[in-house]
Amino acid sequence: MSAITLNNITKTYNKGSILAVDDVSFSVEKGEVFGLIGPDGAGKSTIFRMLTTLLVADKGTATVGGYDVVKDYKTIRTIVGYMPGRFSLYQDLTVEENLNFFATVFSTTIEENYDLIKDIYVQLEPFKDRRAGKLSGGMKQKLALCCALIHKPEVLFLDEPTTGVDVVSRKEFWEMLKRLKEQGITILVSTSYMDEATLCDRIGLILNGKVLSIATPENTIQAYPEKLYAVKSKSMYKLLNDLRSFQGTINCYTFGEYLHLSISCSEEDVKKYLNEKGYNDFVFKPTTPTVEDCFIRLLKTENGNGNKDK
Ligand code: ADP
Ligand code: MG
Repeated sequence: MSAITLNNITKTYNKGSILAVDDVSFSVEKGEVFGLIGPDGAGKSTIFRMLTTLLVADKGTATVGGYDVVKDYKTIRTIVGYMPGRFSLYQDLTVEENLNFFATVFSTTIEENYDLIKDIYVQLEPFKDRRAGKLSGGMKQKLALCCALIHKPEVLFLDEPTTGVDVVSRKEFWEMLKRLKEQGITILVSTSYMDEATLCDRIGLILNGKVLSIATPENTIQAYPEKLYAVKSKSMYKLLNDLRSFQGTINCYTFGEYLHLSISCSEEDVKKYLNEKGYNDFVFKPTTPTVEDCFIRLLKTENGNGNKDK
């Protein structure tokens, strides 16, 4: 039995005028860390709200822990933990009060499930009398995770848990998720940080309410259909424009200190073109696509530009 299933789920807002989630189907296996990766407005939070029974879909069915999100919403609320990104904590309550509050709501105590949150809570304990509003981003995030875990959920929903959190805290957070996964907890997590995609067992790339690709990070990358090159020269802006107007270019965009280039011609043709354009100092080397490259390619195809946009 899958821990989470969505079958042709559609959700609109404003009397049908905003299509937020468009016929989405996928499932998450028990103990899996599944990442929903996509930009703002893609429909991630709407999916989380439906799965946590806070919103009802227009069409389709979904289950969590084998329970139907509409019919069995009361049961689902007892078996899931939900970290809705911002605003999940009571800013005026202290760390300990926040935890106690969430424990009480679920008729449990901090002590009862201390094992599950121990690793995370020890880092918070020195600040237990501090108001949540006065914590750093990383600490807030840890507290929110503790609150979502206090009733020992089977399935954990984390909506952009690392947005706005520093790099070190982000890394620590993913370490914590790994340990929770080892305890058999299923995790659906959303992020707009592409580098976090590789930390998931599988990822779904989501855009405009549609899930466009579902695979392991490795297979997502392997499915990248063209050769990809990293190119650099002294005048990057000119290089970008020149490569974009080259007829053998499929796609070219800035990526860190390089341009990433996919081509429909040979390497030699590009090098010859760049020589003709007067570049004599450029770096041109094959590179392995990242999840971000896969996403950029999907964006381009999905926007209807196919391979012709230059
Ligand atoms: P994400 O979490 O990926 O940023 P959302 O699920 O929040 O995406 O939003 C998907 C789409 O639905 C966006 O176009 C957003 O503007 C719209 N939307 C989200 N929540 C509401 C709401 N409560 N009322 C109207 N439109 C909404
Ligand atoms: Mg969101």
